[in-house]
Amino acid sequence: MKAVIVTVGTELLFGQTVDTNAVYLSQQLQLLGIDVMYRHTVGDNPGRIRRILDLSYEDCDLVITTGGLGPTQDDITKEIVTEALGDALAVHDETEQAIRGFFAKAKRPMTENNLRQAMLPTRADVFANRHGTAPGFALETDGRIAICLPGPPREMKPMFEECAAPYLRARCGGTIHYRMVRTFGIGESALEAAISDLISAQTDPTLATYAKDGECSIRVASKRADEAEARQAVCSMLETLHGRIGEYIFSDDNEELAAVVGKRLIERNISVSCAESCTGGMFAQSLTGTPGISAVFDRGFVTYSNAAKAEELGVSPAVIEEHGAVSRETALAMARGALSASGSRLAISATGIAGPGGGTEEKPVGLVYMACIFDGKEMCESIRARNNGRSWIRSYAVLHMLSMILRAIEDADS
Ligand code: ATP
Ligand code: MG
Repeated sequence: MKAVIVTVGTELLFGQTVDTNAVYLSQQLQLLGIDVMYRHTVGDNPGRIRRILDLSYEDCDLVITTGGLGPTQDDITKEIVTEALGDALAVHDETEQAIRGFFAKAKRPMTENNLRQAMLPTRADVFANRHGTAPGFALETDGRIAICLPGPPREMKPMFEECAAPYLRARCGGTIHYRMVRTFGIGESALEAAISDLISAQTDPTLATYAKDGECSIRVASKRADEAEARQAVCSMLETLHGRIGEYIFSDDNEELAAVVGKRLIERNISVSCAESCTGGMFAQSLTGTPGISAVFDRGFVTYSNAAKAEELGVSPAVIEEHGAVSRETALAMARGALSASGSRLAISATGIAGPGGGTEEKPVGLVYMACIFDGKEMCESIRARNNGRSWIRSYAVLHMLSMILRAIEDADS
């Protein structure tokens, strides 16, 4: 099935409302294995809405619209779609009762124009609106399908999931099974190179790579007549991926790195503390997003100044004097300090230059040293994060700290 997404609303064209509906629908349709060929945004204008519909059906069979289903004069999507698909509007009794009930329950007077929303195409599959009054619907004529959904995302999303998705699943045939594989530590181009033969030979399962915030993900999807077959196909592709790039994969199931690390620490009952300079507490913030982490997370030190590093963590001023606050030696001394102050089994530290100022030729913006000590074994690494801005560098450093912990635990296992 080939689809077109049409978001209706003059406010979208003005840039007053950000068109989040189109993005959401693109994602949902992809999950259903439906190819989105075009996305259009059109104002509340009957002629132009009609033109976009006619154009869409030239080479696609499904049009999904959002917006313009409400009770006011400018809400005209329903009329135009009904006309384009050769149907007529009539009162839909159930919807009329629902609208009257909605106002009675809210103890609000109902204006007559609200009943316009009970006018629906005679052949439509009506989608009730649990979060508002305007119902949505699906209408099919000679293999052309229109699905019309309300504009407000809080009404549109549940209606898509509860009504439109089952409607579409029943018509697509086959089932889609997919997994989102998450990697860290390998760039998108290196990742693509490592699996380029798999990508170019793909028919089913399909592979798609995405880079986001310093991470790369691979979507592995299979569409088969049979659910178990699709699952099996994805499973064996996952095995292949693990054989190729297993060291970079931290989740086969779209989990966040912090969640994976948090869970691992809890499972293994490994107590943990951190000493942060350039990340300013972001590591602690990120790790403590995991429910149940209090069982293992002991404390975090945010030691920004040299004095704090000395007073809280016992970093010798001589070490800082000789090697600088941003150095291997200081990172190690910070982790050792966190370890002895807390008595944790694992300590992690970071010290770096987040910019925009403060960089030198020798120590550029983006340079971060990190140390991880686990059961006495010390590990120290540095990264040169791309200078994509202060916030990006700090977030990237946190991801790297998390990945160091994961590797330290894996090393201890092997
Ligand atoms: P209502 O019954 O609220 O009038 P409607 O189906 O007629 O719903 P619109 O009037 O087109 O929808 O839009 C209502 C509101 O929904 C907009 O003001 C906007 O806040 C939100 N909205 C509409 N379209 C989008 C979109 N594509 N992305 C995000 N939000 C949207
Ligand atoms: Mg409206």
